[in-house]
Amino acid sequence: MMKQELAPANLTDIARTVLKKRYLLKNEHGDVIETPETMFWRVAETIAAVDARYGASAEQVEERAERFYHLMTQGYFEPNSPTLMNAGRPLGQLSACFVLPIDDNLTSIYETLKHQALIHQSGGGTGFSFSRLRPRNDVVRSTMGVASGPVSFMDVYNHSTEAIKQGGTRRGANMGILRCDHPDILEFITCKLDTTKITNFNISVAITDAFMRAVERDEEYDLINPRTGLGQIASRDGLKHPLTGEVLVPAGQPMRLRARMVFDLIVQCAHATGEPGLFFIDRANEYNPVPHLGEYEATNPCGEQPLLAYDVCNLGSINLGKFVTDAGTIDWESLRDVVHESTRFLDNVIDANHYPLEQITQLSQRIRRIGLGVMGWADMLVRLGIPYNSAQAIDLARQVMRFIDEESKVASEQLARERGPFPEWEYSIWGPDATCARRPDGSRIRPQRLLRNCNVTTVAPTGTISIIAGCSSGIEPLFAIAFWRYQADTRMLDINQDFVAQAKREGWYSDELMERIADTGHIHHPEVPASVQRVWVTAHDIAPEWHVRMQAAFQEYTDSAISKTINFPHEATPDQVREAYELAFRLGCKGITVYRDGSRANQVLSTGSTG
Ligand code: UDP
Repeated sequence: MMKQELAPANLTDIARTVLKKRYLLKNEHGDVIETPETMFWRVAETIAAVDARYGASAEQVEERAERFYHLMTQGYFEPNSPTLMNAGRPLGQLSACFVLPIDDNLTSIYETLKHQALIHQSGGGTGFSFSRLRPRNDVVRSTMGVASGPVSFMDVYNHSTEAIKQGGTRRGANMGILRCDHPDILEFITCKLDTTKITNFNISVAITDAFMRAVERDEEYDLINPRTGLGQIASRDGLKHPLTGEVLVPAGQPMRLRARMVFDLIVQCAHATGEPGLFFIDRANEYNPVPHLGEYEATNPCGEQPLLAYDVCNLGSINLGKFVTDAGTIDWESLRDVVHESTRFLDNVIDANHYPLEQITQLSQRIRRIGLGVMGWADMLVRLGIPYNSAQAIDLARQVMRFIDEESKVASEQLARERGPFPEWEYSIWGPDATCARRPDGSRIRPQRLLRNCNVTTVAPTGTISIIAGCSSGIEPLFAIAFWRYQADTRMLDINQDFVAQAKREGWYSDELMERIADTGHIHHPEVPASVQRVWVTAHDIAPEWHVRMQAAFQEYTDSAISKTINFPHEATPDQVREAYELAFRLGCKGITVYRDGSRANQVLSTGSTG
């Protein structure tokens, strides 16, 4: 099938530049041999072709491909980058997110290292829990030596990532997770204070509910050796505070730590460098749709997908800004249509996908996880005249995400009727099985629903696809109204076109003002009316609390998790970071990531001896 005339894609110059640089097919001489239009058609055709396996006629498949083409070229919906890059091509790996298991033996550590390389080569990101590895200095019976511990193996994975570089498309991204009760937790928390180390990893501490209770009550808790399942005894040197060198647990004593001391250390490091983030592991597991297949131990690199071992998710995001009418209302009918079509698209991606590992193919077919998310949220708000940092925006976030989540599930139910539910449905939290669908008190976690997909909704960062769609990224506030963009090695002045239109309409536009806004990074200039300054808030005008509240509002109606950065001004204190972390836990978030302006460029805290 080859479409004769492809309708032109509605793309900004920046989007075309990015596509040309990184997405369009090249021949062996490095010449680009695709246009954005033929790229989108390649994707649309490949994904629509799956319908034929479920009985669609050639004509129906063609119609479906045209609808998919329209969604992507008009910026209503974009799948994650690997789908755009690889659909209809030999590699054929279409997913952004993977989690691989690491067990406490060298075979497992190096098998998974190999699998990480294969996934990075195909443009996917990988997450790992290092929690099963025995701690540093623990015994290795086969050699009578001592173990080097989770952080040293994370460093090995980091170096391998550096070497792979994802075949020139994108550098591998990783998430490293360690449980708060692992004996090496203090070393892990501080391992990125030197910002030149482990740079290909984001790190998060897996935080249990028991830990948070211990923080609240200022209690101690035990560090557990995963090899024995028993409390760890401090070795010859004792356990020292990694920054002050103070002996926290003397040699030969059971390792018990004050939860508050550990939490303080996390906060101090996050304040200094943005890491570690937190992964609220018990809460994530409460919403694990297939608990009979295993527990969540880790997430993908940006945190929006808690996944099982050998689990995968293909993502796609709807551009919310497109659904604001000229009258300043939301076009819910169109949004519903796009949600349904996008859900179908993502379900097809599962079947069109070529995974690098058999275990991943198997699990993806058994649970059929998809991640439909949103982008352009900040655009939607400014078009509706609602400030991001307002109760009205929080209420609308709930309303919009609830609608998308519900409609996506209606579409998944329709698919289940046509193609059957996901094979593990019966034992999932959506099925009739009473044991795994209920909490210990007997209440249902989710209502029984016959779904095609075990999870449907998420919120991804949409780093590149938001540029392709020409919208604000994910659920983040606007980064700036006008700024200098460094994308694909080119410097470009990027001005929000809605802002330009409003300025012209209201008669206060000038080129000079736009450049001044880009240079100063804010719109607080006398020419800009006060009401405009109130609505057009950017990331740094917004108090961290509103960032957290926004994340929590979206989380309420999202199956998986939310990728979001809680921005702090440079002068924010560690206590403000602590408040954000505690608020995220209280409001039901599944994790949190913070970033304090300018902190990575800073002189890092000096590290003392490690114990
Ligand atoms: N990701 C990755 N490498 C990257 C960027 C992203 O592996 O350089 C993965 C990672 O799992 C992330 C997911 O892709 O959570 C989605 O990221 P994003 O939405 O920014 O990707 P896009 O589709 O916009 O490229």
